[in-house]
Amino acid sequence: MATNNKHAHPWSPLQAPKELAQKLNLDPKTLSLASSDFGHIENKTPLAVFEPSSESDIIELIKYSNSLPNPFTIAPRGQGHSTHGQGLTNDGVVLNMNRLGDFRNGSEIVVCDEYVDVGAEQLWIDVLRATLKHGLTPLSWTDYMYLSVGGTLSNAGINGTTFRFGPQISNVLQLEVITGKGDLLTCSPDNNSELFYAVLGGLGQFGIITRARIALGPAPTRVKWLRLLYTDFSEFTKDQENLISFHEKNETRGADHVAGYLLGNLPPPRDVSFYPEQDVPRINSLISQHGIVYSIELVKFYDNNSQSHIEEELANLIKGLKFIPTFAFEKDVSYEEFQNRLRADIEFLRANGLLDVPHPWLDLFVPKSRISDFKEGVLKDIILKQNIPVASLIFYPMNHNKWDNRMSAVTPDEDVFYALGFFRGSFTNEEMEASEAQNEQILQFCKDNGIQAKVYLASFKTQEEWVEHYGSKWELIKDRKDEFDPKRILSPGQKIFN
Ligand SMILES: Cc1cc2nc3c(=O)[nH]c(=O)nc-3n(C[C@H](O)[C@H](O)[C@H](O)COP(=O)(O)OP(=O)(O)OC[C@H]3O[C@@H](n4cnc5c(N)ncnc54)[C@H](O)[C@@H]3O)c2cc1C
Repeated sequence: MATNNKHAHPWSPLQAPKELAQKLNLDPKTLSLASSDFGHIENKTPLAVFEPSSESDIIELIKYSNSLPNPFTIAPRGQGHSTHGQGLTNDGVVLNMNRLGDFRNGSEIVVCDEYVDVGAEQLWIDVLRATLKHGLTPLSWTDYMYLSVGGTLSNAGINGTTFRFGPQISNVLQLEVITGKGDLLTCSPDNNSELFYAVLGGLGQFGIITRARIALGPAPTRVKWLRLLYTDFSEFTKDQENLISFHEKNETRGADHVAGYLLGNLPPPRDVSFYPEQDVPRINSLISQHGIVYSIELVKFYDNNSQSHIEEELANLIKGLKFIPTFAFEKDVSYEEFQNRLRADIEFLRANGLLDVPHPWLDLFVPKSRISDFKEGVLKDIILKQNIPVASLIFYPMNHNKWDNRMSAVTPDEDVFYALGFFRGSFTNEEMEASEAQNEQILQFCKDNGIQAKVYLASFKTQEEWVEHYGSKWELIKDRKDEFDPKRILSPGQKIFN
């Protein structure tokens, strides 16, 4: 683990005014918990952890830092599920957003007909459960539900629903934000719109999201959940691209969730846990035979009203798809069970001591036009040849028109692009370093071959890399920083401006 605990900052929490000092936690155990994240790759001990009991406390903290000749940095922390220290600081204060939830007094999640107002520290699983009680649901999701609303909105929030409803940042109606200058502002597309677009996908650079208003729709009750296996890459991608185009063409027979996975001869193929136990040996033998097997995850939601025609709709949906007919698998589960499907895997890893290890993950957006080159150069020539364990490989397309370019998030500039995720856990330092080196090699391959890929959940080390990442958006990002956080206080762990 890379440790950087050199406290170079002249400010000490002991100098803070009394009202703030009471909320600056210096307990070594608390500092230690705030010095690392899900990635277990970077380690930085903050000077203190700030535990606010209201938005006003956060405002006071930010204003106090701004008033110093050398302001200290402030790193808001949701669930700490970043992988490369994005929420850490060693020359400032970690802001424990979770403490806000303790003081909301019933206002943490308020469900209305068309939207839900939530505290940014809330978990998506709790938002789901609260809205389901009213027969409603957010429309756009992440696969894992134990992430904070503020954390995913600072990135984008993607999964198999993104092709249809856009990332979670495209489903926000209004935000409450405390800027890096300490101003608490309500913002939306019509009100303080520059701040609204800045913080969505803004990597915590421009303000601290304290509340969000999220669009809702009617909640289904049940889910037809399919996995369809392919051995032919171009059939797999063609079918995925076709499936995500139905709603674009106003065809009602579209899917509600489309995702893809790769099953490789790389230990351990986690995705196999979906399949009936008796089928696992023949799936494994298919993988051995072909090196990689491709799996489309296709989902159709339904409820009592649509129950009578769901089978017919499903049959129409998969008609013409080129999966191997004897390798089609189906589950029928409740909507909540489907949304919370990753919980069991994470708990399994936790229970077996496999979760608190380094996670050198890489998430990439790759334009559709270069996806075959990526497959040849990366999947075949790097991933399969080097045989470094990858626990899970996701691979699915989304529609560019569901993203809003005014937001700070960046994507490839093509109508359809793929989200690729290489998820790994490392058990030794050597394994971690080899995985990180492989991630670098993948990015270098894209550069050398002119593939305009964009890293999602990026963890660059230098500003030059960020400038390249943002491309034509860099000037806008810089202007937004100058406007909303001129003293470069917020989220230093992203290493964009600090
Ligand atoms: C097991 C797992 C599964 C995941 N699955 C998905 C997935 O399916 N789809 C997806 O899109 N992502 C996924 N992610 C990535 C995840 O969305 C990001 O890591 C996200 O940042 C996690 O939220 P968090 O609350 O843990 O944020 P943190 O790690 O605590 O913070 C992330 C960044 O945002 C800043 N920040 C946090 N809260 C706020 C706030 N309120 N206002 C402003 N800035 C803030 C922090 O300073 C930091 O820079 C997954 C991660 C894990 C570990």
